Amino acid sequence: MTELSHTTHKHSVAVIGSGPAGFTAALYAARAAMDVTIYEGMQPGGQLTITTEVENYPGFEHGIQGPELMDVMRKQIHRFGAISVYETVTALDTSKRPFTLTTESGKTQSVDAVILAMGASAKLLGAKGEQEYMGYGISACATCDGFFFRNQDVLVIGGGDTAMEEANYLTRFCSSVTIVHRREEFRASKIMIDRAHSNPKIKFLLNTTVDEFQGITLESGLKKMTTAILRNTQTGAITEHTTDGAFVAIGHQPNSKLVKGIVAMDDGEYVLTEGKSSYTNVAGVFACGDLQDTVYRQAITAAASGCMAAIDAERWLEQQH
Ligand code: NDP
Repeated sequence: MTELSHTTHKHSVAVIGSGPAGFTAALYAARAAMDVTIYEGMQPGGQLTITTEVENYPGFEHGIQGPELMDVMRKQIHRFGAISVYETVTALDTSKRPFTLTTESGKTQSVDAVILAMGASAKLLGAKGEQEYMGYGISACATCDGFFFRNQDVLVIGGGDTAMEEANYLTRFCSSVTIVHRREEFRASKIMIDRAHSNPKIKFLLNTTVDEFQGITLESGLKKMTTAILRNTQTGAITEHTTDGAFVAIGHQPNSKLVKGIVAMDDGEYVLTEGKSSYTNVAGVFACGDLQDTVYRQAITAAASGCMAAIDAERWLEQQH
C-alpha cells in the first residue's frame, strides 16, 4: 500500500465526492489553510455532468453547461491548493483518529477530518435508449430542466410524490404532462394525487411502463429523444408514444454505501446531520449536499451546505487543540 503523502503540519481534510457540495467544501477548507484532498470518485463533477445547460445557478446570466460549471469549480479549488484524486474511496476507518481512507487502488491516507459529499443518484428505469438520450430530451430533474420544455408535451414516469410534484411543476411551462405509472394505485400522498388530478394539463397513463426511448439526430448533430415505446403491464400491448421530453421521477438513491454502519442514516439511507449543521453522529465526520438532503436537492443548496461543512470542520478541528 502506498501512503499519499502530505508534508505540511496543517489540519488535513478529505472531501469525498466532487459535485457542487464537495467542490465548495474543498474551496472553503483550502482557503482556511487546511490541507485538502478531494476524492472525485466514479463520476467526477457529480450529477451536473449529466445535465446540459444550468440556468438556475446564480452568477451566470446566460446559463452555463453543467460540465463546464464543475470544471470551473475544480480549477477554483486547485488555485487554493486542494488536490484532486481521481479515485473512489472504498473504505473509511473512523475507529481511531486520525481517520484512514483507502482508495480503490489500495492507497491510504490519514486525515484529521472527513467531509462526506458523495451525493445522490436519480434512479433510472434501465430502459433502452435512456442513457443515450439523457440530457437530450430525457431528464431526471424537472426543476433543473423543465424550463427547456416550454409549450411542449412531456411524460413524467413514476407514481410517487416526486412524480406528482414534478408533473405539477412542469405544467407551468409545458402544454401537457402525461404521468406514466406502472400500476393503478399510486405511492404518492393523497393531496399530491388530488392536485395532479385537478390540474387540467395533466393526463395519466396507468399500468404502463417505458420499454425504450427512441430519437433522431438533428441537423446540428445533437440527438433528440422523440418517442417512448410503452408497454401495458396488464395486456402486454406495445404502443409508440410521440413526445417532446420525458422526466424520470422514480426516486433517488443516496450514494452512502461507503459509510453504511459508520454514520447514522435515515430509512432511505440518507446521512443524518445534526440540526442545521453538517455534523454527523461521528465526531470529525461531516456531511453535505444531496447525500443528506431529501428536500431541496439543488446545485446551489448543495454548494451552500458544502460551505457549511468546511466551516464546521474548521471550527471542530480548532476545538481539538
Ligand atoms: P418513491 O419511492 O416514493 O416512489 C417511486 C415511484 O416510482 C413509485 O410509484 C414506483 O412504482 C415508481 N418506480 C420505481 N421504480 C420504477 C421502475 N423501475 N419503473 C417504473 N416505475 C418505477 O420515490 P419519490 O422520489 O417519489 O419519493 C421519495 C420520498 O420523498 C417519499 O417519502 C416522498 O413522500 C418524499 N417526497 C415528498 C415530497 C413532498 O412532500 N412535497 C415531494 C417529493 C418527494 P411503485 O409504486 O409501483 O413501486
